[in-house]
Amino acid sequence: MGLDLLADWDGKIFIVARPEDLVALGQAKIFFTVETAKFPPFAQSMAPPAGGGINGAYHSYRELEADMLALQQKYPGLAKVFDIGDSLEKRNIYALKISANVAFDEDEPEVLFLGCHHAREWISVEVPFLFGKYLLENYATDPEAKRLVDRSEVWIVPLVNPDGLEYTIHVYRYWRKNRRDNKDGTYGVDLNRNYGYKWGYSNNGSSPDPASEIYRGLQAFSEPETKAIRDFFLKKYFQGMITYHSFSQSIMYPWGYTVQAPDKDPLLRDIAARIAALIQEVNGRSYNFGPAGQTLYLTNGDTVDWAFGTSAIPSYTIELPPIDEMGGGFFNSEADIQSIFQENLPAMLYFVDRFIRDYRPQGADLGPDRPDKKFDKSSQIR
Ligand SMILES: [Zn+2]
Repeated sequence: MGLDLLADWDGKIFIVARPEDLVALGQAKIFFTVETAKFPPFAQSMAPPAGGGINGAYHSYRELEADMLALQQKYPGLAKVFDIGDSLEKRNIYALKISANVAFDEDEPEVLFLGCHHAREWISVEVPFLFGKYLLENYATDPEAKRLVDRSEVWIVPLVNPDGLEYTIHVYRYWRKNRRDNKDGTYGVDLNRNYGYKWGYSNNGSSPDPASEIYRGLQAFSEPETKAIRDFFLKKYFQGMITYHSFSQSIMYPWGYTVQAPDKDPLLRDIAARIAALIQEVNGRSYNFGPAGQTLYLTNGDTVDWAFGTSAIPSYTIELPPIDEMGGGFFNSEADIQSIFQENLPAMLYFVDRFIRDYRPQGADLGPDRPDKKFDKSSQIR
């Protein structure tokens, strides 16, 4: 039905509904209740604006930019910020690289962490960003952090959808897509349905309707944000990738477009099981795991299917807490940022480490790292 699915939990399906969705549900004789009343207007219910928005301790685009550049400044040998492309509204999409000898593309395993394809999923910015900060702040004192930074190249793109994020801060907290003007009175393409592997495979896993929250766009990679990720990805040799979303506490791997499992399913399952176990050890919270199409619902054109479909590397979507709408849905409290990061940290360390252990050197070092045509631009931004 092209619905914006949030969660399937305890025998109920949660969606964000447009008025016409409610009509369609009624016509299909599907029973529903509207829970809008649980979410009073944010002006009354949330903390006072910080820096001109409602985001509080969560990063806005400018705050994140400043914090990423501050890390580069504080740890010049270990951290470097790259501008890998512009959003539709001309904001920069930033990648933070963390490695010893950071200016050079060394013969080390590269691991990618992404955040915030979906604007309203604020916690998905914080977890990958805080991971980078953790590695840098602990490099000098923690042998394990040092070993990982010395022997790998960790890449973090915490904000794939900056236009959408700003829109959620200043206009509408529940916004999901980017800010594409679809020229029919509707806005937005779902960036996590716009990637080019099995794009538009079926109308279950994505929608051709521009008004839909899972609108896939006019063609694969029609959006500058997904194009930026594609072009960046194709210049590197990533060994593994995790893309963070919220919410539902799940760890998902390919395929999303079909309920069939890929050939590498045992390996993907092993890693997912380990991630889930490491997470549970911290706060006791359980994240379920499995192939995306079997675990949550069918999707096509998403990041993980594309990364796996083109590179066959272990690729995961992690849906962060809470587990359900009753637990707060997209509205994680500011106080939960640290605990959600902390419970994911051991799994992130493990994820990088396993590619170090498996890595077979590819030959000579590759010289200065230039994943980005605008290589020197980031150092000029203030
Ligand atoms: Zn999402």
